[in-house]
Amino acid sequence: MAIAPRTPLIAGNWKMNLDHLQAVAFVQKLHWTLKDAKHEDGSVEVAVFPPFTDLRTVQTLLDADKIPFALGAQDLSAHDSGAYTGEVSGAFLAKLDNRYVIIGHSERRQYHAESDEVVAAKVKAALRHGLIPVICVGETSEDLEKFGASAVPVAQLTAALAGVKADAEIVVAYEPVWAIGSGQAATPQQAQDVCATLRGVIAEKLGADAAAKTRVLYGGSVKAANIASFMREPDVDGALVGGASLVVDEFAAIIRYQKHVGV
Ligand code: PEP
Repeated sequence: MAIAPRTPLIAGNWKMNLDHLQAVAFVQKLHWTLKDAKHEDGSVEVAVFPPFTDLRTVQTLLDADKIPFALGAQDLSAHDSGAYTGEVSGAFLAKLDNRYVIIGHSERRQYHAESDEVVAAKVKAALRHGLIPVICVGETSEDLEKFGASAVPVAQLTAALAGVKADAEIVVAYEPVWAIGSGQAATPQQAQDVCATLRGVIAEKLGADAAAKTRVLYGGSVKAANIASFMREPDVDGALVGGASLVVDEFAAIIRYQKHVGV
């Protein structure tokens, strides 16, 4: 499915939740909910990021029932194949029709000690296999206090884009670590300021054309009640949603944010 440049993207990162049977029930219910609301018109791209063990099942369902959701994985290996026990190759993800892969989520940086170098290697691996990396960047509350909101995300994105070609399709997600799962989202203005700064980094590294085309998402305690306020901002092109993407009605309401924009 061809996606128009800067089509808003609402992406659900399920993290380590929902087994493959629960995933099927969830995707079917979400599809019916959006269909009933006549909200599968392509004006918003919906993507789900289930655990690895669900991907084949969800892919089969999306394909069989012609459900217009994109599929993404939550991580990939920097390597393509070989003696890397427990790792998953981008080649395998591409074979399962994954369109996206999340890279550098703060939980991977924190719990798996993923450095900027590892993140950069994974971005290259994703692009080698035709996957669109969703590059996550964000500052902790200590970083925020010490350096302000943009410094760490800018440094992380600059490192992640090393060696990326100007015509590569990427998505960037600004996810302040202090806002993830905390119930305390950034303000729309904070999100706009950092997303605009990150777009400037893309312009510097990949050129103005890439900056104009690339979707920059906000993530961190997004819910139905606040999504419209983020989506009104000119440099916020969508959201990466964690907790609220696990509740069908809430996630559907987030996807249907256009109902509330401008109200
Ligand atoms: C996330 O994990 O990427 C996230 C944004 O989580 P939450 O929406 O729950 O804050």
